[in-house]
Amino acid sequence: MKRSRLSRKRIAFISIGLLVTGLVAFFCTFGSISVCNVCGATQTETDFQLPFIDVTYWSMKHVESTTLSRTVERLNLCPPHQHEFVFAHGGGNGVMCAIGQGRHFLGACQYDELSAFVADVAKYRSNSVAAEWLTESLDPDRSSRVMYIARSFPLTGFVDQDKFDGWWKENLFDITEMGPNSPVGNTKTSLP
Ligand SMILES: [Zn+2]
Repeated sequence: MKRSRLSRKRIAFISIGLLVTGLVAFFCTFGSISVCNVCGATQTETDFQLPFIDVTYWSMKHVESTTLSRTVERLNLCPPHQHEFVFAHGGGNGVMCAIGQGRHFLGACQYDELSAFVADVAKYRSNSVAAEWLTESLDPDRSSRVMYIARSFPLTGFVDQDKFDGWWKENLFDITEMGPNSPVGNTKTSLP
């Protein structure tokens, strides 16, 4: 009888221990997303941490392609590389909202119009010109300008050179003022 009571106590302790461990593992996580400044792929990361302390004992990472990175890969616009992930934002385990430079160009990687624009630049200009626009798109200081220029670009692209050239001409002022090699485009604003 005494032995049985001890066993029950032990089971109860083990159960509580497992429950507490499970709760710590579930709630004490820091989740984040980063973006590669070479190709535009993203990485989501879940760090399992000690409660309210920035000490990670286990981490799960998952790389995902984006609209832009798929275009880059399809057109071979950047060389084979180790992803260079730049922290965009994250939170959890007592941190409400952590932010990084990657947040300034994360949107560009998921902006369909911009990917269609880069693809057509490669098609109707050249891969090297498209690569320049890619570099602009993944620059935290200049990414939003490329998104602005590409805002009216058709998602399906243009069917021929003349139509593409027509759009280019219509948007020449913005392209000249804000595109690669433009005075504004080359002014580093060092966004926070
Ligand atoms: Zn990459």
